[in-house]
Amino acid sequence: MRHYPALRLTWPSRPTDDAIERTLAVVDDTAPTGYDREGDAARIFFASPAARDLARELLRTADPALVCASVDVPDEDWAERSQAALGPVRVGALVVAPPWVPPDGSAPWITIVPSMGFGTGHHASTRLCLALAQSMPLAGCRVLDAGTGSGVLAIAAWRLGAAAVTAVDLDQDAVDCAIDNVARNGAAGGVAVRALDVATGAAALGRVDVVFANLTGDLLARQAALLVSLLEPDGQIVVSGVMTSEEAGVAGAFSAAGARIVERRAEDEWVGLRLTRSSGPA
Ligand code: SAH
Repeated sequence: MRHYPALRLTWPSRPTDDAIERTLAVVDDTAPTGYDREGDAARIFFASPAARDLARELLRTADPALVCASVDVPDEDWAERSQAALGPVRVGALVVAPPWVPPDGSAPWITIVPSMGFGTGHHASTRLCLALAQSMPLAGCRVLDAGTGSGVLAIAAWRLGAAAVTAVDLDQDAVDCAIDNVARNGAAGGVAVRALDVATGAAALGRVDVVFANLTGDLLARQAALLVSLLEPDGQIVVSGVMTSEEAGVAGAFSAAGARIVERRAEDEWVGLRLTRSSGPA
């Protein structure tokens, strides 16, 4: 199994978010590739042991009270892997960046704290949604982000002009993370985040103009009819998290549910689809 070189950092007392961001800024020149929290400790990941050693030296000088342990973290799952390269990501006009990279003023900017909520822009399925979001009219729309993770798509929809966005996730950690990211982006007036299982609770949310559903091919195929039923007539749904091997099954389920594909994008083995709810008789 592959291992990532990392530093495990502990502070004399529980660190504030600001303290952690200052620490990340100190090591920025070593191009850290990832960051996560482990209770009161934080881990910073690096591309090489040499970069880690340099970062350790920088931190020793900057903050003698900080305790730094070199660790090699096993590559456990795809979500962690997806967070292992954490510079800014540009998709079309949008930029998704961690908080220690300041907005450069040139683009709509989305700040995402890389932590346990999936969705830093480093996974192809998120980028496909961000690209598809930019080829549809979102201004003034009501939007549901089904499986919001970090909140990245909800914040993107709001940045692109959506009037009201509901972001839901069944994982409470993701909900907490999304609430934090929404606030950081000044989007709390436009994005409401709720803990909710789409499969059992979405019908109660009422209809929307646009749904984003970056889930899995299997879940999308099973919930296609429910997801389409959430759309206004002529509403649109963006689905992602679909592997090419699953595409036919997902497309078939949405077609049977009365949705028509209007755009397809692919990156590596991942596919994103934009579909419209066919108006008129089913
Ligand atoms: N929207 C983000 C995150 C996608 S990861 C992005 O595009 O990057 C998928 C998210 O969906 C995870 O956070 C997972 O917890 C959530 N999820 C999975 N099944 C769900 C369900 N049935 N209801 C609500 N959320 C779900």
